[in-house]
Amino acid sequence: MLTNTIAGNIQQIRNTLPQGVELVAVSKFQPESAVMEAYGVGQRLFGESRPQELAAKWAALPRDIAWHMIGHLQTNKVRLIAPFVAMVESVDSLRLARVISDEAIRAGRVIDILLEVHVAREESKFGWNPATLENTLSAGEFDNLLGVRIRGVMGMASFTDDTNIIDGEFTKLKSIFDTIKQQYVPQIDVLSMGMSSDYPQAIVHGSTQVRIGSTIFGQR
Ligand SMILES: *Cc1c(COP(=O)(O)O)cnc(C)c1O
Repeated sequence: MLTNTIAGNIQQIRNTLPQGVELVAVSKFQPESAVMEAYGVGQRLFGESRPQELAAKWAALPRDIAWHMIGHLQTNKVRLIAPFVAMVESVDSLRLARVISDEAIRAGRVIDILLEVHVAREESKFGWNPATLENTLSAGEFDNLLGVRIRGVMGMASFTDDTNIIDGEFTKLKSIFDTIKQQYVPQIDVLSMGMSSDYPQAIVHGSTQVRIGSTIFGQR
């Protein structure tokens, strides 16, 4: 935490964000009252990692909040959030993209998505392998998914104190974003990278959206 209050933390972070970098306040595991404290200083964009929690907060809180799904999403949970979610940042398979597209169409919507790419050292089941993603894009596999709009790329750096490793991973994410934009989806405009521990570095490397939880709300 930067200050003693959620409002103070948000304002302090905002003061450091360059123009064009959006703040997603990551409210997972935080009570609705914490969201409302952030809302009180004008925060309207929040991120959650669990579909049930996301749906419950959406139902209880003001309707002008934009909710981003940032955690792993199982296909059988998509229906819970499809009617309202502003963006799914964690799209890591074609199967998931297809289900989101189908559920969006059912709900009469088009849902913005980010493609989550795995660049960190930790073993993780989640996130595209960069080469697989490029092959999938070049094969035109997303072309007929009329219920989703690809807006960009999301990624996470390794959990480490070694800033060289983190720099390398953010550089890689930016280069994947640039390749996708130049070769496959020219309209993409979101590069979501940077969390509490590394967002200043992510911004240096071209992030347009930082996802910050504990620095705003304290420990979960
Ligand atoms: C929890 C989470 C964050 C925020 O992490 P903090 O370290 O609390 O800022 C960002 N992105 C994703 C995908 C998360 O799951």
